[in-house]
Amino acid sequence: MKHKLFDLRGQDGELEGELVAALASVVRSGSFVLGPEVKAFEQEMADLCQSRFALGVASGTDALVLALKAFDVGPGDEVIVPPFTFGATAGAVAWAGATPVFADIDPETLNIDPSAVETAITSRTKAVIAVHLFGLPAPMDRLRELTSERGIALIEDAAQAILAEQGGRRAGSMGDIACLSFYPTKNLGAYGDGGMVLCSSPDLHEKLGWLRAHGSVRRYIYDHVGTNSRLDEMQAAILRRKLTRLEEWTEARRRNAGALTGSLGDLEEVRAPVEPPGSRHVYHLYTIRVADPDGLGEALGRAGVATGRYYPAPLHLMPAFSDNHEEGDFPVSEAAARSCLALPVHPALTLEAVDEIALAVRSALTRHEA
Ligand SMILES: *Cc1c(COP(=O)(O)O)cnc(C)c1O
Repeated sequence: MKHKLFDLRGQDGELEGELVAALASVVRSGSFVLGPEVKAFEQEMADLCQSRFALGVASGTDALVLALKAFDVGPGDEVIVPPFTFGATAGAVAWAGATPVFADIDPETLNIDPSAVETAITSRTKAVIAVHLFGLPAPMDRLRELTSERGIALIEDAAQAILAEQGGRRAGSMGDIACLSFYPTKNLGAYGDGGMVLCSSPDLHEKLGWLRAHGSVRRYIYDHVGTNSRLDEMQAAILRRKLTRLEEWTEARRRNAGALTGSLGDLEEVRAPVEPPGSRHVYHLYTIRVADPDGLGEALGRAGVATGRYYPAPLHLMPAFSDNHEEGDFPVSEAAARSCLALPVHPALTLEAVDEIALAVRSALTRHEA
């Protein structure tokens, strides 16, 4: 495929020497788990995300599970999540033993709709997970109002939204706990799995610290029950070197997204992503909505442009989460799933490449109609 959806080699290529040297230095250090690279990376990430504390964990999914555990979410509790998201958002809730309760999304932003959240709240609601979908922050002010007056925890699933902003605040600083993923294709990707929890409360920080390390505050003394979920030194070493380029890569994504919206925004057949005033979208994915995303995806594939269906079905209609649900329950999520198609905006794309992609979309849509 000429234009890939993600291009890690293209993006990281010029850092290769530095990355290999960083790995070699970890090999020689003899320190592999929770050593100096992880510690330094945690501080850098806390500063970057305007949060007081950051803890490296094994994945974004673990970050969500640990965040829920930090609020003692378990059997009998309900956690409100959007149906139009990556499976881990609801999966983490079920894995923690609680029940995911879906609340539909806003048709403009595709993020969870606060009025739907309000309707979904019951006496069992223990937390709300706000997903900053595709890199655009969810409406945190409204969600904060709804949750704080009722003592409900507000968790940010910021896996796709590192460096996104809303009202001058960064993703990772707007909920009680925020969760990041360093899965390789995320905007800041490791060379394996990795994740992070961010928080500003010292109590939550302490609790998350023992949750990720066997429940032990002092070595081999188990005051609590925890698990083993840690970021390792190799991944932290990679991530710290890549972090030096993240702002530049994010601007490249934004530039590419802006160029695509500029070229496609006038097409009646295309609904381009929005960036509401006061928000900074970081375009983990640039997802348009069209009547026939599979048809357009195939045509673009023939023209050398890779695309992806994020996400082809809403979670409430998947076997894992469909108990008591049927088609029609969350119509906005269902419509989004039927129409979404992600186009490449990764940082290694040149503006000429973006022009080619836009042109390919235009001609595929015109031919499609004929
Ligand atoms: C990637 C992702 C996760 C899970 O992260 P992993 O590191 O893959 O476990 C959770 N939520 C969202 C929205 C994601 O995109």
